[in-house]
Amino acid sequence: MNIIFLGAPGSGKGTQAAMLSTELKVSTISTGKVLREEVEQQSEIGKLVKSHMESGKLVPDEVVIDIIRDRVVNSDCDNGFILDGFPRNIFQAEALEKMLDSIGKKIDHVFNFEVDEDILIKRISGRFSCKSCGAVYNGYFKPLIKDGVCDDCGSTELGSRVDDNEETVKNRLKIYRESTFPLIQFYKKKNLLVSISSIKGAPLVFEVLIEALKSSSKKF
Ligand SMILES: [Zn+2]
Repeated sequence: MNIIFLGAPGSGKGTQAAMLSTELKVSTISTGKVLREEVEQQSEIGKLVKSHMESGKLVPDEVVIDIIRDRVVNSDCDNGFILDGFPRNIFQAEALEKMLDSIGKKIDHVFNFEVDEDILIKRISGRFSCKSCGAVYNGYFKPLIKDGVCDDCGSTELGSRVDDNEETVKNRLKIYRESTFPLIQFYKKKNLLVSISSIKGAPLVFEVLIEALKSSSKKF
């Protein structure tokens, strides 16, 4: 079973991908992670990726497609795979389809994790962590018991990611919406898309995901 996960940053799709890959015994292919691994291993592709990253350019689609092809023909993808982080636009989706077709594979399901934008902004911009023990908090959803003191270790050194302020998050979401809207339409037309609200916590979202998977699998 070959699956694509779509969802804005902060939608929790990474968590769902990890849970589903354990459940179905399929591999998760996170393109961001795979690209970083190639760079670390200093492979031919890795060197190419690195030169693009260093010059501030996006890694060309063909390169990413090549990496995904190498990945999905591995035996750990015999049961299937979950693609997390790719495709991001309709051109990539078409290229992916063509490549999978050429190796006799296809996408069976596409899940779109939807989140209320206000909640998403709070989820991302409210996030901060303890610099000492790494415990993660959220000013809106998981505040500290005692202001300015880590619940877990008592440290007062707390900080948030610099790029996680509200304006950056809003901008990131806008870019995401604009590029993925046509993508969502693309998979809708192919009858592959199921949208799942990911407002509820991870375990509940996972239940909905499993149900959706069962009921849409009956169609095939
Ligand atoms: Zn701590």
